[in-house]
Amino acid sequence: MAPAPAAEPELVDIRSVDPTIVVELRYAGKRNLARRPLYPPNMPALVRPAIARQLAEAQSILRRRGLGLKIWDAYRPKSTHDQLWEFSPNNDYVADPTGMGSLHTWGVAVDATLIDSRRREVRMPTDFDDFSLAAMLYYIGPSEDIRRNLRTLQHAMGRARFNGVRTEWWHFVSKDWQSYGPITTYPIAGIERPPPSQGQPPRTQPSLLPRSPGGISSRHLSTSR
Ligand SMILES: [Zn+2]
Repeated sequence: MAPAPAAEPELVDIRSVDPTIVVELRYAGKRNLARRPLYPPNMPALVRPAIARQLAEAQSILRRRGLGLKIWDAYRPKSTHDQLWEFSPNNDYVADPTGMGSLHTWGVAVDATLIDSRRREVRMPTDFDDFSLAAMLYYIGPSEDIRRNLRTLQHAMGRARFNGVRTEWWHFVSKDWQSYGPITTYPIAGIERPPPSQGQPPRTQPSLLPRSPGGISSRHLSTSR
């Protein structure tokens, strides 16, 4: 009998699936809400394998137009999310970790912007972690350039089965997010370690998925940064 195929890893490096996607994790530097690094400098941009394939699809749509994705955040360990909550306990922007938590900690959400063929960021409504009205999903400012750039990003991500959220134009969640659950203890050197008694890599816990009649409200999605 042929051996069973190896199970997919829980998380993969986005660049191992599509090396043309540019990664600049903002929480590995100072240009973020906390104004200091929350990730180690070698932190990879990780997502669930199926979500990496969705990103590769969006990237191929953009590359036909001489554009590409730059990833600002991907999988976010719960310990980092808890720190962000301390900086900004405002549930409109940082998901309350005592509730469902952030879909970044599930490995199903990314923060992304658009770059041109020379890997320069194109003009967008705001910078990352800008919580002004201008960061809303639907741009209402006067610049036709910005409007077109945002529409291009949203179109490619939508074709690749991502949804946006109301308050942050850069935040995208896989439409398949409900198939997954939080990753509570994924080991990354310098951030968190697996529990010492556990020999196996931790698994997702689908039982932690909230099951409410009619599913999860859009409010949860809109606050799952
Ligand atoms: Zn986000």
